[in-house]
Amino acid sequence: MTNRFERAIVLFSGGQDSATCLAWALDRYAHVETIGFDYGQVHAVELQAREAVRDGITDLNADWQRRLGDDHLVDLRGYGALADSALTRDQEIAWGERGSPTTFVPGRNLVFLSVASALADRRGAGVLVTGVCETDYSGYPDCRQQTITAMQQALSLGLDHEMRIETPLMHIDKAETWQLAATLGGSALVEIIRQKTRTCYRGDETPQAWGHGCGTCPACELRAKGWQQFAKQAAS
Ligand code: ZN
Repeated sequence: MTNRFERAIVLFSGGQDSATCLAWALDRYAHVETIGFDYGQVHAVELQAREAVRDGITDLNADWQRRLGDDHLVDLRGYGALADSALTRDQEIAWGERGSPTTFVPGRNLVFLSVASALADRRGAGVLVTGVCETDYSGYPDCRQQTITAMQQALSLGLDHEMRIETPLMHIDKAETWQLAATLGGSALVEIIRQKTRTCYRGDETPQAWGHGCGTCPACELRAKGWQQFAKQAAS
């Protein structure tokens, strides 16, 4: 078996960020598996996009195809019911009283990383890759570097072996995320991510210049803005 630090588990939702992380991981690690979570989110369409994104990305590159292993979908609907938010029920998506968006699911990334670390342990992987980012949503405390650093320490202690958490998008914005995809896989990868990934909070699939979505929820606004910046830089 290869070294544990040559094997990675990517937290993969089928959205733009995790698709870019998947390509990043395939570029670096000898063996990569993906894990996704169904926590009853309204945007289940994102989960359905997972297979199409995985296939599209591996079709680009024979090495990536060889490195990509199994996909794991974990049912966390019990947790989703506990952590009720605008992502899991029909509530307006806005800024809530606690200074976080109403789409904030308390501790979501802590739960995801814990579950992913159990899979990593079983699959002989020593690296978790997640698309969390403190640049875009400062309102999500479980996406911040400090939280991730503490989580990495907690998981390593709790598993009694080192578990690394890699966050390639932590300090970059959405335009730079598109740029990272272009660097990793050229315009073909950018096109797969644009066409196949789903990030809309409402699960809307209306075609847009930057992909598919309602165009008005916070996730669509962020994606549209990042795409426009990226397209402008690419043209200049
Ligand atoms: Zn939307």
